[in-house]
Amino acid sequence: MHDIVLIPGDGIGPEITESVTTILDKAGADINWIRCTAGLNAQEELGNPLPDETIDAIEKYRIALKGPLTTPVGAGFRSVNVAMRKKFDLHSNIRPAKTLPHIHSRYEDVDLVMFRENTEGLYIGKEKWVKEDSHAESIAVVTRDASEKVIRSAFEYAKKKNRNKVTLVHKANILKYTCGLFMEVGEEVAQDYPDIEYEDLIVDNMAMQMVLNPKQFDVIVTTNLFGDILSDLSSGLVGGLGLTGAANIGDDAAIFEAVHGSAPDIAGQNIANPVAFLLSALMLLEHLDENNLADRIRQAVYYTLENKSVCTPDIDGSGSTTKFTEAVCSNL
Ligand code: NAD
Repeated sequence: MHDIVLIPGDGIGPEITESVTTILDKAGADINWIRCTAGLNAQEELGNPLPDETIDAIEKYRIALKGPLTTPVGAGFRSVNVAMRKKFDLHSNIRPAKTLPHIHSRYEDVDLVMFRENTEGLYIGKEKWVKEDSHAESIAVVTRDASEKVIRSAFEYAKKKNRNKVTLVHKANILKYTCGLFMEVGEEVAQDYPDIEYEDLIVDNMAMQMVLNPKQFDVIVTTNLFGDILSDLSSGLVGGLGLTGAANIGDDAAIFEAVHGSAPDIAGQNIANPVAFLLSALMLLEHLDENNLADRIRQAVYYTLENKSVCTPDIDGSGSTTKFTEAVCSNL
């Protein structure tokens, strides 16, 4: 029996959480869900977007499945996702984007895995007012230690999964110290993996290359903010945000979540695509070495994607979250 912390999250979070736990239970996953709260609903109900009980549970069990959390735009509390990644030193955010069967997208045979540095960079919101309302500054932090952790994770993943190439993405022509350091560490780490091809690309060129010819990429490693943006782009390459899972991995803790956010525009309508969150849960099962179970669920999902009458509208379906869930359960 695996004890897993479960945070349903905000917006579409509870709907896709219900779907995923139903499918995992039906498939016979031996999981004891430890239910916790975080995000906007926790802020509204408990006055704290990241309650101590949630932190304590992750401290104890070291593994969680987390739905998307809303972060207010402009003002309000800072990102709970960022706080959790920092708190548990979840240095590598792994975001695969793979063409799925029966999904209409602009490309075929995309199969890339993005490693996003997850604890520093410009993304962590280290900001200050120099002069209130007229001059703000944001600080990007890059350290050798955190850079090496994510870059080495990317190479180790490539080695383990027999992948051929690692592409490091940066902006070291302009950000000479921060991205320069990230790139320097990349060149050093690459020397330990002579059998894996290594290249680096400047992020603006990378964005164009991904749209022109995504098949040229295999494993990608980049800093936090670039990884945030480029992983949504890679989701778009394979059919959208409803289809891509993710894992936040540290040395001794892991939190699995979808790439997408809380999608407030479709929350409560029973049309959220649960596939992304389900693929995150399959990454969790693989992390627990439950590979056969993960494979069986994946095959049931692939099979179900052919039946557009049960699929959600984002992937050209006329079904719903619950119809898709029921169909996967019966196809298992
Ligand atoms: P979003 O990812 O929530 O939504 C972007 C678009 O994709 C929307 O049109 C949405 O309807 C669609 N979409 C996303 N997931 C979908 C799914 N499973 N099925 C069908 N359609 C789906 O991005 P946003 O609207 O920019 O952000 C909303 C909130 O989510 C913000 O508060 C943001 O901070 C938060 N967010 C959280 C996380 C996280 O918890 N890891 C990640 C990204 C954004």
